[in-house]
Amino acid sequence: MAHAEIRREGPESIGDLEALAGRTVGVLGFGNQGAAQAANLRDSGVTPVVGNRVDEYATAADEAGFAPRSIAEAAAGSDVVLLLVPDEVQPELVRDEVAPGLRAGDTLVVASGYNWHFGLLEVPDGVDVVMVAPRMIGAAVRDRYVSRAGFPCLVSVERDASGSAWDTALAVTRGIGGTLGGAVMSSAREEAALDLFSEQAVWPMVLGMLRTAHAVLTEAGFSEEAVLSELYLSGEPAEVFDHIARDGLFGQLGLHSRTSQYGQLRALAAADVTATYERFSSVLHDDILSGAFAREWSRPEAGERLDELRREADTSTLAHAEAEVRQRLRH
Ligand code: NDP
Repeated sequence: MAHAEIRREGPESIGDLEALAGRTVGVLGFGNQGAAQAANLRDSGVTPVVGNRVDEYATAADEAGFAPRSIAEAAAGSDVVLLLVPDEVQPELVRDEVAPGLRAGDTLVVASGYNWHFGLLEVPDGVDVVMVAPRMIGAAVRDRYVSRAGFPCLVSVERDASGSAWDTALAVTRGIGGTLGGAVMSSAREEAALDLFSEQAVWPMVLGMLRTAHAVLTEAGFSEEAVLSELYLSGEPAEVFDHIARDGLFGQLGLHSRTSQYGQLRALAAADVTATYERFSSVLHDDILSGAFAREWSRPEAGERLDELRREADTSTLAHAEAEVRQRLRH
């Protein structure tokens, strides 16, 4: 079994902010991650230059005291550039506004591995590329920096043109608070593959199971209200997932009745997961690692297909039933 190296702030403190001394750090985008990481860097003593288009995000940056500039200006004026705009706009933005301002010796920092791993970012030769990817939503990146609770962070060096890319990567990780909860040495490939696997293998199975359970139970004559409350409207599954994170996948079973424990473990032991294993392997190898999904998602018509799939989901039997139950339970 593979194990990643984990580095954490401690007596042998890692991530020396000295690696950023004399270098201007730029944060491009002041959204979920941008606002949080810019504030954390400033509190770590590395006040960044913020780049954003002129709109409400720029106003928020201004109100937070960052005096935002255009993306192109911030990129050109920075030596270490944190790319914190949505993944789907990055390839075009980097090509048109970021890359022209990057010089040999600069560092581009991505917060997710997708675009870099699948070859969608054109970064000039001589520029280091590193990944500092918090496993945490932006608001919590800020809250957990302030409280010192920390958050896990996947870190990698993707292109080490300068020979000191690791120093920069770990300094940025430390600056945003990513060494407090453990910096996991990873790669853009690993980060992207795991993210896509959760999205394309695990969650569709969970959604599909709930949809199938709804069909079986309502066809057997049980009421929509009772079925949907049992399945998820009560919020109980969220509680269970919370306990899975804290007490373990099986450790949390102790919170359920003995009848429930026996029923769950007996059914789990009897479950045939061969088809699920094969499906998961196919998603991982044929769709994700082969690059087939990334190529499909880069095509212009994929956006239209997403709109179509959203319409189908929003008008499905389950979506209608859910809306009606919500309405009735409110009255
Ligand atoms: P957001 O959706 O919050 O980004 C919004 C920011 O991007 C705003 O500043 C917005 O400014 C700017 N932006 C949006 N479209 C454009 C455009 N076309 N041109 C220029 N700027 C644009 O992104 P996140 O913070 O969620 O994600 C940033 C990165 O962090 C991504 O790589 C993501 O994968 C990664 N990440 C995100 C996590 C999360 O929980 N959200 C967790 C870990 C990593 P405006 O529209 O005003 O121009």
